[in-house]
Amino acid sequence: MCGIVGYIGHREAYPIILKGLKRLEYRGYDSAGIALFDGSDIKLSKTKGKVDDLQNRLEREIPTKGTLGIGHTRWATHGVPNDINSHPHYSNSGNLVIIHNGIIENYESLKKELIKRGYTFKSDTDTEVLVNLIEDVKKNEDIKLGKAVQIALNQVVGAYAIAVFDKNKPNEIVVARLGSPLAIGIGENEFFIASDASPFIEYTKNAIYLEDEEMAVVRLEKGVKIRKIKDDSLVDPYVQELKLNLEQIEKGGYDHFMLKEIYEQPNAILDTFRGRMLPNEGIIKMAGVEDNMKTFLNANRIIVVACGTSWHAGLVSEYIFEDLARIPVEVEYASEFRYRNPVITDKDVVIAISQSGETADTLAAIKLAKSRGAFVFGVCNVVGSSIARETDAGAYTHAGPEIGVASTKAFTTQITVLTLIALRLARAKGTISSSEFRQHMIELELIPEKVKKSLESDDYVKSISEIYKNAGNFLYLGRGYNFPVALEGALKLKEISYIHAEGYPAAEMKHGPIALIDENMPIVVIATKKGHYEKVVSNIQEIKSRKGKIIGIVTEGDQQVKALADHVIEVPETIESLTPLLTTIPLQLLSYHIALMLGKNVDQPRNLAKAVTVE
Ligand code: GLU
Repeated sequence: MCGIVGYIGHREAYPIILKGLKRLEYRGYDSAGIALFDGSDIKLSKTKGKVDDLQNRLEREIPTKGTLGIGHTRWATHGVPNDINSHPHYSNSGNLVIIHNGIIENYESLKKELIKRGYTFKSDTDTEVLVNLIEDVKKNEDIKLGKAVQIALNQVVGAYAIAVFDKNKPNEIVVARLGSPLAIGIGENEFFIASDASPFIEYTKNAIYLEDEEMAVVRLEKGVKIRKIKDDSLVDPYVQELKLNLEQIEKGGYDHFMLKEIYEQPNAILDTFRGRMLPNEGIIKMAGVEDNMKTFLNANRIIVVACGTSWHAGLVSEYIFEDLARIPVEVEYASEFRYRNPVITDKDVVIAISQSGETADTLAAIKLAKSRGAFVFGVCNVVGSSIARETDAGAYTHAGPEIGVASTKAFTTQITVLTLIALRLARAKGTISSSEFRQHMIELELIPEKVKKSLESDDYVKSISEIYKNAGNFLYLGRGYNFPVALEGALKLKEISYIHAEGYPAAEMKHGPIALIDENMPIVVIATKKGHYEKVVSNIQEIKSRKGKIIGIVTEGDQQVKALADHVIEVPETIESLTPLLTTIPLQLLSYHIALMLGKNVDQPRNLAKAVTVE
């Protein structure tokens, strides 16, 4: 995920692109760059860091003149954030320049092919491969840029929004989209390109949003010509009149980043397993795991260290690793682990989980584990973060920037990555059969659609929130894989609504919390069909006898819990190990709506920080 901006017209492009990048910085912020056409050549400046760093550098490095340009704020997926990997990227001849948002999954094989043909590469990015592929096609077939982009994209597997121009044809920008957003602002013989409309809202209210698998040639004097990338058919441009204000646009039309991020989960989960899991071929491949397979297979145990929501994802992974790969797992709060002289040996694998990759306690736990000889594997979202650098190997979650302080898509993508690792290890160890392995992958592949389906409960969850918003306490109960989800549901509510909430294993209720239950206590019970269903139903009976108010999270079509509970929220059926990816959705929505109804600041709850970089 990143921000892209482009301009072609009669104004100076630089100030428009710079301001646009600042508005898109929420989409990615590890590096930034701008390429301008000054009338005879391309002038390019890029740097690791924020858009402000770029501004300082660029204004010293290149003239800021020109009425054609493209700019990028990066959220690295391929290659650490550094100056060279920053966008824009030149093609080998220096004629073409590109910005790209997304992932080219088959970049390795394309790169090998291009190297054979004499191309060289400066960066580690998939993007530089794409611009050279376009150049290669253009050169060999002696065709226009638009056609070359189309042919190249038909060889590409992955997701992208791109903008590219040719210095020998400075009257056009070619753009394309598959899986990443791209808007074209239409002015009076001037055009704006951007990931969302925020960079051009003050210049024009007319915009075309490209659909997936569409590309456009945006040409001065001629206008916008849109085609389908696959079959070359022409598409009638649909120009919309924008009604949103700037802030609404940055939040993708959602009222809050948290809600936007909740709704991004189907795509975020897809991005997490994209290119790593190939169910048809029966393959899961993750470089960090493959390269260290022996260490994983010889491990006596896995110790997970994490804080907050990441710790809950770690708890889910305990069930997955033990269940599928039969490796003993301990899940530790990083803050406790680092100070209690834990027994760690070089036969232990430590998995450190953190969204930001900067969590101070987790970093300290990593250093301690390394000093005792353990192999440390990181699972984080922010590429090039301290944890990514400190660990021996790792896997990114690819969730895209998470801005809302209360973590949502980071949690589900962490579970997705950990599931992939567990499945890969289980297969390597032979603790699951190849058909079970395949079955799990097929089910995981269906999860993004099922998350979408789970999000359909939003209005109903809102109506339940209205009923319970003034409760002083909440109890969340779950068993097995869904016990950590109960903890996470309670944490979400506490974090943003400031209502006291506790999560418990459902069966533990009778060892204490049951004393709290009366007609004023709402109790959220996760009772999916797969996983201790009958036992949880008995727990629900116990609550009902004490007049507690029951909100059941159930599998679609459930009748038994429905007959007992005050409300039931349905999620689609899946295999037990994947239920947390679905049951967590209504709990996120419940906390969001209650907090909003109570007038709380959902995205920036009091006293909390997004990355806890102090202990
Ligand atoms: N895959 C590209 C890179 O790592 C683009 C990432 C992005 O969307 O910012 O540079």
